[in-house]
Amino acid sequence: MELVTMTIAGVAIVLTASLAYAVNKYREIQEKNIEIEALRCSLNAYAETYAFENADEKLVEGCQSKIKELFNGEIEKEFNKYKTVEEKKEFACTVVFALAECMKVNVNDIEFVDLGPNTRGVAIPDSDSITICLNEVLLVADPEQLVKTMCHELKHCVQYKSLTNNIWGYSPQRIAQYLYSWREYVSCDSRESYEAYSKQIIEIDANKYVDRIFNA
Ligand SMILES: [Zn+2]
Repeated sequence: MELVTMTIAGVAIVLTASLAYAVNKYREIQEKNIEIEALRCSLNAYAETYAFENADEKLVEGCQSKIKELFNGEIEKEFNKYKTVEEKKEFACTVVFALAECMKVNVNDIEFVDLGPNTRGVAIPDSDSITICLNEVLLVADPEQLVKTMCHELKHCVQYKSLTNNIWGYSPQRIAQYLYSWREYVSCDSRESYEAYSKQIIEIDANKYVDRIFNA
């Protein structure tokens, strides 16, 4: 049997080669975890520095009054007036268009699709068209979350469009943050990538936007 001498906590100890290998792996993982924890700390500190600009406050006010006008505080009740899924979809489209108008975004297409249990919506903005995909489950299961998702995805469209035509009046610093965040976007495709995904400026921005609209 091959034996190896290792130093553990300052003491030399003779181990089998396979145990020495396992000890080394364990140390490597411990060091990685310390590194991840340190990165997580600085990422949180950085995320805390994010603050809304005046342009955002104006959009929040616009969406709040439109949502009040459409639902008067009763989103679920309003959706329940429509009995079939097709009618609910049609109503949801009018809500998207109304919110998009408040936010000065031109939506070209709205799709209701099965996005699985972890994705509520997706915005697909490009230079000449904007598509909003919404999880059809929300139409029936959680209309309030559906409206929140509309606001979240529309904020992504504002972010994207402001890169080439900043009609909202964001500062150059904010535009630079949006640009970098779009270019280096981390998708949420696994449990391990969730924190990296949710701490990106464009996600922090869209999530805070919804919080501000709904928790005034
Ligand atoms: Zn998002």
